[in-house]
Amino acid sequence: MIIVMKTDASKKDKDEVLKRIKELGYKPHVIRGETRNVIGAIGDERGKAVLQALESLHGVENVVPILQPYKLASKEVKKESSLVRISDDVVIGGRQIVVMAGPCSVESEQQIIESALAVKKSGAHVLRGGAFKPRTSPYSFQGLEEDGLKLLAKARELTGLPFVTEVINPETADLVAEYADILQIGARNSQNFALLKKVGQLKKPVLLKRGMAMTIQEFLMSAEYIMSEGNQAVILCERGIRTFETATRNTLDLSAIPVLKHKTHLPVVIDPSHGTGDHHYVAPMCYAAVAAGADGLIVEVHPNPEQASSDGAQSLKPKKFDLMMAKLKLFAEAGERTL
Ligand code: PEP
Ligand code: MN
Repeated sequence: MIIVMKTDASKKDKDEVLKRIKELGYKPHVIRGETRNVIGAIGDERGKAVLQALESLHGVENVVPILQPYKLASKEVKKESSLVRISDDVVIGGRQIVVMAGPCSVESEQQIIESALAVKKSGAHVLRGGAFKPRTSPYSFQGLEEDGLKLLAKARELTGLPFVTEVINPETADLVAEYADILQIGARNSQNFALLKKVGQLKKPVLLKRGMAMTIQEFLMSAEYIMSEGNQAVILCERGIRTFETATRNTLDLSAIPVLKHKTHLPVVIDPSHGTGDHHYVAPMCYAAVAAGADGLIVEVHPNPEQASSDGAQSLKPKKFDLMMAKLKLFAEAGERTL
């Protein structure tokens, strides 16, 4: 249920509502709007009627049900787009298109530093690189783990770029959060509810990838798991879904952009690298994503893709990334965005 406060409601009114919500066994979430606050009361759907009684409290305008099964992620609760702050100068969800770029995996100091310098020079805002890798085969490269995180931190120190890196289980989440600026939840873990709850308790933004066989409603329910634990800084990432098509690694669902923009206030980022699986197709999908209203991109870039430990075929060389960024600027401008 949503408890809509009057525009002139006092702090005392709000505190009383929060207290009563808790007494009824629900979790209150205050959502600050431009003119008024609304309070989401989240919990067992069956008890909706008792919450209706809060309408009689001082300072309450009305109490309305949230129709969608995802509550905190829904536009019903918050109409304005959410801004997710990554660092002093990077915010996702505003006018600026945020570009995250770097290799699939961190492989060596030289590789990650060279990548970071190159993507920074081309105008990327965030460095990407996996230290813990969720590989389909147990025999594939699994990542440098904490050594990889240290190398990412070194690249950040050198370039000033914040970094996004994947968390693959609850046990190592605190360790990753000590280093990372954004915690990535990969497609394979997007319904790992224990992991979603864990990152929901951490105080770092989360880049949540869509699972490869996930509906948009399920995707938003996964975001809800994170938000219901207290972490509202969720960035949604469409990275391609499984279809009958085999010409691309996945089918990049660009229609997810307007659909998500219609249903949620959370920022939406597109991953054209995993979305297509082929470096030839990455740049056009970057342009299309920006044209369709994405708030950002996450792109794999490797100084030497032929020798990459993972996802070389879909990684752009720095020169190609640079050309893509120059052209992307025109698409950003056409959409009244900045890069
Ligand atoms: C990645 O970003 O390298 C990755 C493993 O992505 P996904 O979870 O989308 O497959
Ligand atoms: Mn990858």
